[in-house]
Amino acid sequence: ADFRRRPDRPAAPRLSFEFFPPKPDQPVAAFWRTVADLAALDPQFCSVTFGAGGSTRRATGTIAAEIQDRHGLPAAAHLTCVDATRAEIDAIASGYWQTGIRHIVALRGDPRGGAGGAYSPARDGYAYADALVAGLARRHAFEISVAAYPETHPQAASAAADTDNLKRKIDNGASRAITQFCFDMAAFERFLDRAARAGVAVPIAAGILPIVNFARLESFAAACGAHLPADLRRAAAGIDDEPLRRHRFAVDLAIAQCDALYRLGIRDFHFYTLNRAELVKEICDGMGWSPLVQRAAN
Ligand code: FAD
Repeated sequence: ADFRRRPDRPAAPRLSFEFFPPKPDQPVAAFWRTVADLAALDPQFCSVTFGAGGSTRRATGTIAAEIQDRHGLPAAAHLTCVDATRAEIDAIASGYWQTGIRHIVALRGDPRGGAGGAYSPARDGYAYADALVAGLARRHAFEISVAAYPETHPQAASAAADTDNLKRKIDNGASRAITQFCFDMAAFERFLDRAARAGVAVPIAAGILPIVNFARLESFAAACGAHLPADLRRAAAGIDDEPLRRHRFAVDLAIAQCDALYRLGIRDFHFYTLNRAELVKEICDGMGWSPLVQRAAN
């Protein structure tokens, strides 16, 4: 018997890690240590958010380019079209291209007030992500990834309309969907069915959000329309008061999710790292996905 590797652990899939640009008051050295720790897991790419949570937009391209320079890893820069003219967006995209970035995660973005606010397209802007994708694809040969919502985007007219929107983004030039985090595996399975029926044939990377703080997760989930199943809430009751238990719970839960998603056919896993290496490393180790474990098993 092969005692080195649990036979039920799936072979290494394609991993990607999302970072946000370090906030001005955060030590930059710690950020780069986190990136280095996770680069060691040999991801397919890393990505850097754009303006999310009020972070500066200017840093995105610079950080993405520096990840490429430091680690020889492809980096994707996110780009949102909210509150900007087409000319402004095109200039940012050209800047990305000039610094050697070849992959954009193309998004609409949220209104200034946050995910719950009413959205209206900017004058002379790209109205939605589908138009942004088309605009980017016309100008440069970027690889383009787009967002997808297993539990349907909160502003979508219906699940079907949201799936049609995803298909439109792909038809306009995107070659990968990355999902919003989702703790409801039955909902994820229904989403995969809808996407397949709509003709979505590109890889769908499952977004995995390790739980760093349950109270914060609850408010974040409410804002982006992700529901937290009753079992999960029960199991997590009081967990923020016990950091060690929370850590263990976060690792075990994410491993169970990755297992379930793998069984659903998912082979691309995108981790929302929140600029922390520890949890993501433990999850990937637990799945047997880190290069060390892989080498030991072969
Ligand atoms: P779209 O695809 O444009 O869809 C938005 C909504 O509009 C959907 O409800 C859709 O069904 C609907 N819609 C689309 N077209 C039309 C139309 N023609 N008429 C009416 N309704 C329409 N935010 C950031 O600010 N920065 C980031 O870096 C960032 N990164 C993200 C990464 C990932 C993987 C994900 C999943 C989200 C990210 N977000 C980020 C959040 C994202 O900006 C929000 O979820 C936003 O509300 C929707 O963006 P989208 O690209 O999915 O929009």
